[in-house]
Amino acid sequence: MKTSGLTIGIVGAGTAGPAAAVLLARAGHRVRLYERAPVNLPVGAGFLLQPTGMGVLAKIGVLDELRPLTAGIRRLHCLDRRGRSLLNLNYEEALPGVQGAGTHRATLLNLLLREATSSGVEILWDHAIASMERGTDGRPRLVDARGGRHGPFDLLLLCDGAQSTLRAQAGLSFRVDRYPWGALWFIGKRPSEFAPDTLWQRVGSTRELVGFLPTGTKDDLLSFFWSVKLADVAAWREGDLNDWKRQVLALAPQAEGFLAQIKHHDQLSVAAYHDVRMRHWHGDRVAVLGDAGHALSPQLGQGVNLALMDAAALVRTLGESRTLEEGLAAYSEARRSHLCYYQFATRWLTPFFQSDAPSLGWLRDGFFPLIGRVPWVRRQMITTMAGQKTGVFGRVRE
Ligand SMILES: Cc1cc2nc3c(=O)[nH]c(=O)nc-3n(C[C@H](O)[C@H](O)[C@H](O)COP(=O)(O)OP(=O)(O)OC[C@H]3O[C@@H](n4cnc5c(N)ncnc54)[C@H](O)[C@@H]3O)c2cc1C
Repeated sequence: MKTSGLTIGIVGAGTAGPAAAVLLARAGHRVRLYERAPVNLPVGAGFLLQPTGMGVLAKIGVLDELRPLTAGIRRLHCLDRRGRSLLNLNYEEALPGVQGAGTHRATLLNLLLREATSSGVEILWDHAIASMERGTDGRPRLVDARGGRHGPFDLLLLCDGAQSTLRAQAGLSFRVDRYPWGALWFIGKRPSEFAPDTLWQRVGSTRELVGFLPTGTKDDLLSFFWSVKLADVAAWREGDLNDWKRQVLALAPQAEGFLAQIKHHDQLSVAAYHDVRMRHWHGDRVAVLGDAGHALSPQLGQGVNLALMDAAALVRTLGESRTLEEGLAAYSEARRSHLCYYQFATRWLTPFFQSDAPSLGWLRDGFFPLIGRVPWVRRQMITTMAGQKTGVFGRVRE
């Protein structure tokens, strides 16, 4: 099948779905985007856009408009339990002129959805897709939760997040593990104790981690996250909020004013993390993008950026291929080294920061500052943070 003028169905209007929708519609395809949420809700924790993700947003044409709404992040500074620097990584040191951008899901999504609409994408809110079927011609069709039928499609993109129910129905092989650890998070006003350009973190043992990410917007916001074992969340909700604040303040004494904004447990949301593994991110007339194909713990803060890179890679490989089958196979190959590097690095790193293995915490506190002094290693750490690595020596091309 040819790769021009396709009818494409996309499930999920998170990050991967709208980004792919805009680029595909502009490449001349007919695109329908299905989202179960009733409208574009301002939900989700703050996140850090990396130069890789921003490169895709520049291609889409929204980066210049987005930048003033974000907080420019110049460095990651993480302290250990004794208050010594564990990691102090400044983008500028290895990548002159480069910085990250703290922002919010809704801020990014508003711009992507506006571009999608003006590019001719049909967006169907309040459409939870319950199942996928194939007609006798093999083309995928979708059935929504109210029994409405959609399609057939020449190509279906699964952008329905880590807990995708459609991956299995599409006959793709994958594995999903849920991390025992997650995070409590809250978005509040940024007090002056937190620098507007620094992702600040502090760890205790491997069971305590606190982070503060400036996320910009005209209100000058700060996203706070606190590591929590998911099995302990119910007990935390029953517990005294002031006792919990004392634990946070033991690691981040400068957060007293910020924490005063939290008056009830309900103001904090719980984020669970998944680890999704796939060997190929495509099947017969199907491609998987974003967390649905490669969710990881947010330790390296790459999920949104990887999702944006997926969208750009898929549109490029389809455009460069003679047939759809060839384009989809090329998409999996194009993404392999980048995704494998970040999945490997995240799996390796996460237990040093969130686990029930305190000995790893001591190892981390001794080892990380030492290796961080080696100039070559520092450069690799910074390019890893910037989302640009595809292997020990490789860098992204997009
Ligand atoms: C606490 C936390 C902090 C994070 N910090 C960062 C960070 O700093 N940097 C970073 O890059 N990433 C970060 N991430 C990861 C990032 O949020 C994800 O990687 C990213 O949102 C993935 O985008 P996506 O489009 O693949 O999926 P999602 O954003 O999960 O979107 C999936 C969409 O599909 C919809 N959907 C699902 N099923 C259906 C269905 N059956 N029918 C219709 N619609 C459906 C959902 O409603 C949703 O809108 C963080 C994650 C967490 C939890």
